Amino acid sequence: MNFNEYEKAVEQLNLYSHHYYVLDDPLTTDEVYDKLYHEVLEFEECNKDKILKNSPTQRVGDIISEGFTKAAHLSRMWSLEDIFDADGLKAWLKKTYKLDKNISFYCEPKFDGASLNLIYENGVLLKGITRGDGTIGELITQNVKTIRSIPLSIKHKQTIEIRGEVVIFKNEFEKINEARLKAKEAVFANPRNAAAGSLRQLDSSITASRNLVFLPYGVGENSLEHKLLSEKMQYIYSCGFRKPPQSSTCQGFDEIEAIYERMKQDRDSYPMMLDGMVIKVDEIASQIDMGYTVKVPRFSVAYKFPAVEKITTVKSIVLQVGRSGVVTPVAQVEPTDIDGVVVERATLHNFDEIDRKDIRLKDKVIILRSGDVIPKIIKVLTHERDGSQLPFVRPTLCPVCSGELLDEGVLLKCQNLKCEARIINSIIYFASKPCLNIDGLGDKIVEALYNSGLVKNVTDLFSLTLEELLKLEGFKEKKSQNLLNSLQNAKGCDFWRFINSLGIEHIGEVASKTLSNAFGASFIDASKEQIVACEGIGEEMAESLLEFVRVNKETILELQKILQPKEPIKKEEAKENPFKSKTVVLTGTMSQSRGEIKDMLESLGAKVSGSVSKKTDFLIYGEDAGSKYDKAMSLGVVCLEEEEMKKLISKDSL
Ligand code: NAD
Repeated sequence: MNFNEYEKAVEQLNLYSHHYYVLDDPLTTDEVYDKLYHEVLEFEECNKDKILKNSPTQRVGDIISEGFTKAAHLSRMWSLEDIFDADGLKAWLKKTYKLDKNISFYCEPKFDGASLNLIYENGVLLKGITRGDGTIGELITQNVKTIRSIPLSIKHKQTIEIRGEVVIFKNEFEKINEARLKAKEAVFANPRNAAAGSLRQLDSSITASRNLVFLPYGVGENSLEHKLLSEKMQYIYSCGFRKPPQSSTCQGFDEIEAIYERMKQDRDSYPMMLDGMVIKVDEIASQIDMGYTVKVPRFSVAYKFPAVEKITTVKSIVLQVGRSGVVTPVAQVEPTDIDGVVVERATLHNFDEIDRKDIRLKDKVIILRSGDVIPKIIKVLTHERDGSQLPFVRPTLCPVCSGELLDEGVLLKCQNLKCEARIINSIIYFASKPCLNIDGLGDKIVEALYNSGLVKNVTDLFSLTLEELLKLEGFKEKKSQNLLNSLQNAKGCDFWRFINSLGIEHIGEVASKTLSNAFGASFIDASKEQIVACEGIGEEMAESLLEFVRVNKETILELQKILQPKEPIKKEEAKENPFKSKTVVLTGTMSQSRGEIKDMLESLGAKVSGSVSKKTDFLIYGEDAGSKYDKAMSLGVVCLEEEEMKKLISKDSL
């Protein structure tokens, strides 16, 4: 990098920072920013006399917006040096041990949100100030007072500054973006921007509506006498602040690496976004000796996690046709490695989303891949357009059968019941776990059977013979026999599985069970009044069922004859017990499969649901319970270990 390029890079970084800190609407990913930042840092290390005053390396990044009153921190706030791998950690430890050999470390998650300084005097919250330039920030006390995890008064009476990160939990972030989409407002690119944007609102009622969470990570001005940071933090938590989900003290490279690896592995199970782990020298006296550079403490470092956001290009938008005929657009992107996985596709949900986000072919976009979630486009980099980007034209014909599509606004649907994609997907659905659970009948096999002409609908499956299968490519004796056995085993299935496997729109597992219990085999003769009288079944579901039966009655009867599903034995009403008529959610690993526990609880009259809400009465948890447990705790739901549940049941049955 020469001086000219250096000047340009500084200008570019400052532009990125303006969009990131002031507008809460980043122009690029952290990864791109960090790479350029480190190039600038390298140039400056070799050219100390040429360092520009406005270089981002010379100051804490946030820029103060007009519109807020400014306020000074009692003691300076800092940024953090960052490292990205084990070599970086080794180098940082070497540098730090040179300053002091007898040190240990305190590690905690690096929360991805907005930094905040709280000043308490006489035990009362006096001011809330954003980090700003480290010396002066924006005074946002009114907004801060709306955050429930920030105590308005604390037991500590001397003046103290408590520093922490304001974050938005991932589930809350999704909710905010959904509401913004409905209101046709621009969505936030990620929870960090949402947290920063919600904190810095001129109208406090908006901040109040966003469910922000404050997580303390340190103190500024204080008169605490603890010798270790870990002790100080315990004291801060005892003042009523929220503890981070994880924190550990440790010594040396190996221990730090082990904690880092575990945290990296678990990062998706935390309710908030983490972008790394912060390592701090635990001994306060050593921290004071080590001091600060112009920008960062020498006693602390951020060990970043691999990026989950990357920039890529939209190559094309392909259309997939589901079993109900709904056409779903999927973006094919330039293959991009995200944390070890090559991403080639990103979900677009529906056609409305393409319009709302104005996603065009050849657009540069930021994609996010986090945990098991299918990669998605979180932002279009419109400023990178060069005129060659083409708007996506809404299709009018089915990409598979060329039949006319029904345009319902948000959704496009293929109407043709004989459309190949619809048939193949309905057979795949028929065989899937919550339906007939037929082993050995996955997507590829169904496609092969369909393409061979042997199976054109679900009933054909049951007339397959060994000879026929053996003629197909890749079907050896064992595989073919296993498939025939699985098909045989599907006979005599529970009646609700039979209803579910028909793939009636709006009728899923829960509704199939309700219909099965209420009507058994006569569900095909039930009237609309009788159907809507069932709990949890509304008009739309009833109409969908009636229409399906009207069109497919013969096929239903034919399949029923083949499968001979077991009609439910009219259950006696469960006797009184603690779970009767209660809504229960299961999570974690238990001594029996969750399916067995679910069946047992249902036989006691409980309703077993998949997600925790205010309506949940009990959460039953096993080992490694994750976000459902956290949510249940935060909603005050009664949480029982598997053993406690069993005790309650056995006590009750005595
Ligand atoms: P930083 O966010 O990397 O690290 C410092 C901050 O981490 C602290 O101020 C604090 O708020 C926070 N933090 C979270 N958990 C903490 C903990 N447990 N202990 C201590 N601090 C904790 O540094 P920064 O100076 O705020 O921002 C620089 C970073 O912001 C860059 O590395 C870049 O990734 C990102 N950035 C991105 C863009 C963009 O356009 N995408 C632009 C500017 C900056």
